[in-house]
Amino acid sequence: MRGAKCLVQAGLVWLALISWADSANATCPDPDFQSRTLIIPAKVQSYGTMQYARSVDVSDKEVVLTFDDGPDPVVTPQILDTLDRFCVKATFFMTGLRAERYPALVQEVARRGHTIASHSYSHPNNLRRLGWNAATRQITRGINEIQAALDAHDDTSDMRVAPFFRFPGLNHSTGLRGWLANQNISTFSCDAGTDDWRRIAASTVTYRALRNIRSTRGGIVIFHDTKPRTAAALPHVLQRLQNEGYHIAHMLPERDARTPGTTLAAAPLDRQADTPLRSTHD
Ligand SMILES: [Zn+2]
Repeated sequence: MRGAKCLVQAGLVWLALISWADSANATCPDPDFQSRTLIIPAKVQSYGTMQYARSVDVSDKEVVLTFDDGPDPVVTPQILDTLDRFCVKATFFMTGLRAERYPALVQEVARRGHTIASHSYSHPNNLRRLGWNAATRQITRGINEIQAALDAHDDTSDMRVAPFFRFPGLNHSTGLRGWLANQNISTFSCDAGTDDWRRIAASTVTYRALRNIRSTRGGIVIFHDTKPRTAAALPHVLQRLQNEGYHIAHMLPERDARTPGTTLAAAPLDRQADTPLRSTHD
């Protein structure tokens, strides 16, 4: 009997190993690493304690991953694969110019369930210096080009760019934030930087990202999915955060959370109610 029992057990172990091997790429190392979807209220706010009084409503040791300046044909797919490997979702603040160049990448980011947000059209480093008309055109054209990329494929044509904006270089102005508020768009700064825009080694990005995240005990973290050093650092940052008991929260606009359980970047587009964003100064 004992021999038969051992055989059964060995068989179960073998089946478990086969099953593990089959699903090794499909299962999460820690299914709880992404803690929840963080609904961002429709009421317009400015978020991120690096510049503003408050941040998003995260718990202690909860991190919101954000990536700016993409999509990039080399780096963005690497970032997406790393995020998939850890089973976590992020928010991508894209530029309209890159969305125009790489619409399939915009669609891919959305298809994988991340939130698509905007970061101007061509990333002038200081919108304030452009003058009012040019600055608001930068914002609206950025959003419209990203939306056009989503609209260009059946899989994503019912998704909308989230009403989230990040100023290029974080160079904001009270006037432009007011203008964004009138368009029902919230402004996002960050709580923890990573310095990945600087010419530093990937290991330094890892070190500084972790140092700053530990210092704020979570919050909005800013990366750039245009930098190979970021793609190299991200797996190490996520692994350490996981080991240290941090969790990832995925931001989703309240507008898109009306369907229970959805983790898609954008809700179905209500074409009747949707008013394309246009600068009032065009
Ligand atoms: Zn930027």
